[in-house]
Amino acid sequence: MTGGYVKVTTHPLVFGLLRLYVRVLNITPLKDSYHRPIRDLRVSVTDRCNFRCFYCLPHGEPPAAPKSQMLTYEEIELACRIFVRLGIEKIRLTGGEPLMRRDIEILVARVAAIDGIQDLALTTNGYFLPDRAGKLKDAGLNRITISLDSLNPERFKRMTGVDVLDRVLEGIRAAKRAGLEPIKINSVIVRGHNDGEVADMAQFAREHDAQMRFIEFMPLDSGHDWRRADVVSGKEIRARIEERFPLVPVHMSPTPLGSETATRFRFADGAPGEIGIIAPVTQAFCGACSRIRLTADGQIRTCLFSKSEHSLRDVIRGGANEDEIMDFIRAVVWRKEASHNIGSHAFVQPARTMSLIGG
Ligand code: SAM
Ligand code: SF4
Repeated sequence: MTGGYVKVTTHPLVFGLLRLYVRVLNITPLKDSYHRPIRDLRVSVTDRCNFRCFYCLPHGEPPAAPKSQMLTYEEIELACRIFVRLGIEKIRLTGGEPLMRRDIEILVARVAAIDGIQDLALTTNGYFLPDRAGKLKDAGLNRITISLDSLNPERFKRMTGVDVLDRVLEGIRAAKRAGLEPIKINSVIVRGHNDGEVADMAQFAREHDAQMRFIEFMPLDSGHDWRRADVVSGKEIRARIEERFPLVPVHMSPTPLGSETATRFRFADGAPGEIGIIAPVTQAFCGACSRIRLTADGQIRTCLFSKSEHSLRDVIRGGANEDEIMDFIRAVVWRKEASHNIGSHAFVQPARTMSLIGG
């Protein structure tokens, strides 16, 4: 009997089936304890930035962490490959300003070549795009998001700390020429700054066939100056656009790629372009969140507003093999927070701010 048992467990076919079972377990998409599938990874490649947006990094960067603490391209590629094995479909490179990291095209090419990745995007302030858009496209970047808070040079300068609107507009044109389309444009709307410009930005989307994303101001600024009264709600943003351009909701497919945080609209008159409204403060979408973040120094953050981080860097550098790294990631993801609680009186702004987390 014992012999029979030993025989069964050591039979090559049984071994094969067991390994297949483990593999199936390993390809089960990442899920947290609230049954949310995690399909969308944001990787910050640097916490340095050449802009000083007042809602993000008004007083400049904190002293740079030692370079040895930053993930190398090899480590980022390894992490991305493992995340994709775990079911991540979409990766977005961000920062800080991602184009400030030297030879970012090399990383783009490596991540784009990962077997199973469905979408590789990058968020940038656009400053370096006039020279780099073509190279990014050639390296395998699928999509780009460019931040643009104002079409007025003076206001642009007040909001970003730099007088470079023309150059960012040239960056948008360069991205289009390079075929990084459809172009997505992020605009953080802050009361008393650019809330009067919302309809003009919608007009820009129509003229340039762009996907505008209007974002509510979140309490993630390094100056800690965020006030609820400065938040222009998604509802108000929509109303301001509709005073000039009536909108029609875009019905999304039941299984969009990664989580779609924006409520999307097209123009009722059929004009090109699209409007998206991202309202994390007044209409939290935490219940459908499928995101996870990796900071430039290798910390996994399960929410923008997390109070704790989990060092993937230490696990990788500690010599863990791929299965051990996968186990670590699964355990971390399982602990993803139910929601960010910005609406609660007990809300505390996280110590790390947007440019350090990776927006
Ligand atoms: N530097 C790049 C850029 O500006 O596009 C990428 C990083 S930035 C942190 C990513 C996005 O976060 C930008 O579109 C920016 O406007 C947005 N962001 C930064 N601080 C924010 C805040 N306090 N509330 C809402 N969005 C914010
Ligand atoms: Fe830099 Fe982007 Fe933050 Fe502006 S939003 S300061 S460009 S990281």
